[in-house]
Amino acid sequence: MRRVLVTGGNRGIGAAICITLKKLGYDVIGSYNAQHDQASAFSKEHDIPLYSFDVGNPNDTENKIQEIIKNHGPFDSLVHNAGITSDGFFHKMTFDRWEKVLRTNLLSCFQVTHPLIQDMRERNFGRLVYITSVNALKGQIGQTNYSAAKAGLIGFVKSLALENANKNITVNAVAPGYTNTDMVSLMDKEALAKVAETIPAKRLAQPEEIAESVAFLLSEKASYITGTTLHINGGMF
Ligand code: NDP
Repeated sequence: MRRVLVTGGNRGIGAAICITLKKLGYDVIGSYNAQHDQASAFSKEHDIPLYSFDVGNPNDTENKIQEIIKNHGPFDSLVHNAGITSDGFFHKMTFDRWEKVLRTNLLSCFQVTHPLIQDMRERNFGRLVYITSVNALKGQIGQTNYSAAKAGLIGFVKSLALENANKNITVNAVAPGYTNTDMVSLMDKEALAKVAETIPAKRLAQPEEIAESVAFLLSEKASYITGTTLHINGGMF
């Protein structure tokens, strides 16, 4: 049975990824940050173990992933999905907001990947998927921090793919467009309706639609796909 770690697995896109992969027979382990009650209910309902750690904190994350490996065994796959926004015009942005978004969305790639990759190389198998965003590619007003972080992730994916292609390890990014989760429900309803109008498909994505593509990239069928970004945005970009 393939074992997969899904960061941010308790809600939104990550929860859909966990549920989809579990149905496909994966041994799914999820992580989350601070929503303990919600995570505990999700974990019980779906029989998916969830561990709490801040992916932006290097020591905390590496230690917790080592503990998870001790409890469950080594991982074949990683889906790094945890992410945040902290929007605002750049000329009004504080360094704190800039740094927090980069730390959580981009710098975290180091500490979630590093404890897994050496073992994947030794076992000659690995599937790594990183969730980026349409706004990494097209830019978005108010999201210089988020777009920079998510675009950085695409560069990381390309280079890591090259370093590990000869070890049967694939590394890819998935770039969702606007998806129906808590992240977009924070947006003003009127603004969201306007956004939906600009999407050729005239609707937001459902988290399950993103999860299916992640499942494909983790599968044997995708073994020759590496270093790429899969765009799932209803024709938006
Ligand atoms: P949600 O806001 O619904 O969920 C975010 C998830 O990330 C939660 O599980 C949260 O845990 C976890 N998380 C946040 N910060 C941290 C942290 N510091 N350490 C560990 N876990 C953390 O987000 P979505 O499901 O909408 O988004 C999932 C991914 O998809 C993100 O990377 C996002 O940038 C990306 N994306 C989303 C789009 C959308 O329209 N929704 C569009 C394009 C990309 P907790 O519940 O404990 O807070």
